[in-house]
Amino acid sequence: MRASVRRSSPDPRATAVAVALLTAGALTPAGLSAQRNREPTVPPPTILEYQPRSTLIVPETRVPRARFPVVDFHGHPGRLDDPETLARVVAAMDELNIQVMVQAIPSSGERLTRQIEAVRQAGLSHRFVFFASLDLQSVGPGDGVRIAQQLERDVAAGAVGIGEISKGFGLFSRRADGTRLPMDDPELDPVWRTAARLNVPVFIHTGDPAEFFQPMDYQNERWLELALFTNRRFFDRERFPSFDDLMAERDRLLERHPNTTWVLAHLGWHAQDLGRLGRLFDRFPNVHAEIGAILYDLGRQPRNAKRFFERYQDRILFGKDSFQPDEYPYYWRVLETEDEYFDYYRNYHAFWKLYGMGLSDAVLEKVYNGNARRIIPGMPTQGW
Ligand SMILES: [Zn+2]
Repeated sequence: MRASVRRSSPDPRATAVAVALLTAGALTPAGLSAQRNREPTVPPPTILEYQPRSTLIVPETRVPRARFPVVDFHGHPGRLDDPETLARVVAAMDELNIQVMVQAIPSSGERLTRQIEAVRQAGLSHRFVFFASLDLQSVGPGDGVRIAQQLERDVAAGAVGIGEISKGFGLFSRRADGTRLPMDDPELDPVWRTAARLNVPVFIHTGDPAEFFQPMDYQNERWLELALFTNRRFFDRERFPSFDDLMAERDRLLERHPNTTWVLAHLGWHAQDLGRLGRLFDRFPNVHAEIGAILYDLGRQPRNAKRFFERYQDRILFGKDSFQPDEYPYYWRVLETEDEYFDYYRNYHAFWKLYGMGLSDAVLEKVYNGNARRIIPGMPTQGW
């Protein structure tokens, strides 16, 4: 592990304030330098120990249910092949106002059909849709056609999309000769063309937050998460491409297949740079994105994010990722309310507070269900 320490330069605004105080005679030059170099007189807490209570008292809105019926495009509810799991998941969906969940734990063949059949027998076909998996291990000559044929069979069996294709594609997947499988490898062209012909969306997760590809130093916004999870560190350039190289590869894949409907998981990991995602949307009209697990980035820029959601209201889909029913109301609160300075649910994603975006009903409806209903074939027509 390589750790470098960047030195911080003095904040120019703080310096300007100090100069103003100095001119007014409030600080002597000696006092000024003591202020700058002042050290805590007691040992400072660790990053884990410091948990300040907020003293801010502002209106709070509880939003246990989404305002409109929701399609969770990024569902990971576990394998849906037994009545107990189905009953438990549907009960949670009913509480939260999730009308349809996309089973984004991809499956194929027998594993796929067993779940579709279990859902049908439970009378819940209008509540779940299933995405197919792709076998992207050791891809060699002829495998593209083979994978495309399996996709045809899975769609015939009832799958209505592909994915979630995991971040392994681009980071870990290999060709048969042992080299890294580039996402835009022409061998896979038959797969993406088949998806276009069958009119099923491809739900793809590429990379991880950009900070996971940066040195793990004390300026890294995701230091705590990197410290907690050894498998989220991608800063070794001998093993992994840089964030920008990986995204450029993904973009070449999108460009190669303009007739395929793509849905980027986690806003393509551009939630901290929505301008970049906007340029991507402008360049590729066939590309959509889903908001799972990046709520902390929307909630720290509520006005900018709201303008972005208004502008790209036909391209953004609701998705949650990990299935923790008590976490969904944080999404409803950020998207629907104008609440201020409230907690997020996971300290290692974000140490900051969230603010509500206060989206309009028209935008909310598209994000919650309209866009997903448009791009997923054969969605239930009732219950909206
Ligand atoms: Zn996922």
